[in-house]
Amino acid sequence: MDLYECRIFQIRNTLIRPDVTVVGAGSAGCVAARRCAEMGLRTLLLDRKDESDIGKKVCGDEISKSHFDATGIDYPSGDEISSIISGADVYPPNIENVLNVRGWSDFDGWTVNRYMFGQRLLQEAKNAGVVFHPQSHVGGPIMRGDRVVGVYSKDASSGEEINIYSKLVIDASGFPGVVRKKIDNPLVEQNIDKRDIALCYREILSLNKPLEESEVARVFLGGDYSPNGYSWIFPKGHTSVNAGVGVTGGQGQGSPKNLFLSFKEEYPLFSDSKILDGGGGAVPVRRPLKSLVSDGIAFLGDAALMVNPIHGGGIGAGMRAGIILGEVAKEAIARKNLTAYGLWHFNSRFLSNFGRRLASLEIFKRLLTDVTDEEMNYGFEKRLLEAEDLMGANRGEGFSLGITDKMRRVKRGIGNITLLRKLQRAASLMKKMDFAYSQYPNSPAQLDKWNESVHFILEQAVFK
Ligand SMILES: Cc1cc2nc3c(=O)[nH]c(=O)nc-3n(C[C@H](O)[C@H](O)[C@H](O)COP(=O)(O)OP(=O)(O)OC[C@H]3O[C@@H](n4cnc5c(N)ncnc54)[C@H](O)[C@@H]3O)c2cc1C
Repeated sequence: MDLYECRIFQIRNTLIRPDVTVVGAGSAGCVAARRCAEMGLRTLLLDRKDESDIGKKVCGDEISKSHFDATGIDYPSGDEISSIISGADVYPPNIENVLNVRGWSDFDGWTVNRYMFGQRLLQEAKNAGVVFHPQSHVGGPIMRGDRVVGVYSKDASSGEEINIYSKLVIDASGFPGVVRKKIDNPLVEQNIDKRDIALCYREILSLNKPLEESEVARVFLGGDYSPNGYSWIFPKGHTSVNAGVGVTGGQGQGSPKNLFLSFKEEYPLFSDSKILDGGGGAVPVRRPLKSLVSDGIAFLGDAALMVNPIHGGGIGAGMRAGIILGEVAKEAIARKNLTAYGLWHFNSRFLSNFGRRLASLEIFKRLLTDVTDEEMNYGFEKRLLEAEDLMGANRGEGFSLGITDKMRRVKRGIGNITLLRKLQRAASLMKKMDFAYSQYPNSPAQLDKWNESVHFILEQAVFK
């Protein structure tokens, strides 16, 4: 135990003063904490869970190789890998005219043993010098004026309450956003619209016969089992799968668990399957927060709404942002400027890059949720969207619909010009959103004006 660790443990019941306190040891928090420590910052990581529960997370367990390539985090290996994923079959609501997407490097990767993966990320953070306090239930921020100067927390075993002061707080507490929700500051979006939340239920199932294509993920759009959302079946080896349902749109869609149970009853692959694990969760499905920082604090992972709005995948985005944040924290602390201005580089580096892709995908998500099942079935039948479009859309580039292309599709889609127009409009709005994010402001002073331009684009993204 080094001198700094001693200081933290010795004075646990009074005040401790790390450089950075990270709230939440999920994938995003562990990666950010590790990067902070690697940058030489004294880093404290808190989680309300026991250490042995870190990594237990209701999830689809799929993660693309591209995120590891972008961050330098070691690929999953050995028992951490459940399956290699290579390709996806995307089904419209009537489950006909499947779209076989292959060679999609942004999706190809693995399904992982989520527990082992989470434990590995925690271990890597600790090996880098992070001090981890499990069973620390953070209640909210300690404020000095508008500035966050620490967090208050309760030790789950002793009931002891402690105040932890640090130069920077990182809220990586996942969907609950426990610190963010208690900060009253115009830069901070406290609450998000119910329509921007996907409620999910998933089971890990052992099948009674081997999967036919055990490297291909299956995605089912809309339909009776996932209204305004999608269902998935991700392979976990040859004879087990992670399968679930995610629905958006607030109340009135039915419980995700009941929807999943109906899906399970109808879909032949699941007959006589055994449940290995089951559980529900929520995930944000919109663009990231307008600002990922405020005075003395940064937001990360699900707490910052860094999730792909189409498929709800957020592990990769949180890891990417965690690396950037560690580096920005180091710069800001070196310059002794932990204000929103001092931390702004985190916004510029993440939002005008990977965040831009997530924002433009929010338009695509709105298209998918607004079109009717009949329109979607028609679009798949006539191939109005092709596999390359889905790949382009996922990269946030939109789809091209150039003049020759447009003519070709008009011919195919002549029976439903309205749908073609919707597609074209979505493509154009995605490009506009992409451009808006490329112009992300250099300082908080221009944020409101920029945010208005984003809302102006979103207001047009109605495809009913
Ligand atoms: C059903 C479902 C399927 C999904 N499928 C996929 C998928 O296949 N691929 C993918 O990439 N993403 C998927 N996601 C999303 C993905 O799981 C999340 O985006 C990702 O795990 C977020 O990581 P995080 O570190 O931000 O938050 P989390 O993993 O939620 O970690 C937050 C941590 O903060 C801790 N915490 C919370 N409150 C407090 C508090 N008050 N005090 C102290 N600690 C606290 C929690 O204990 C937790 O350890 C799915 C999500 C769901 C719900």
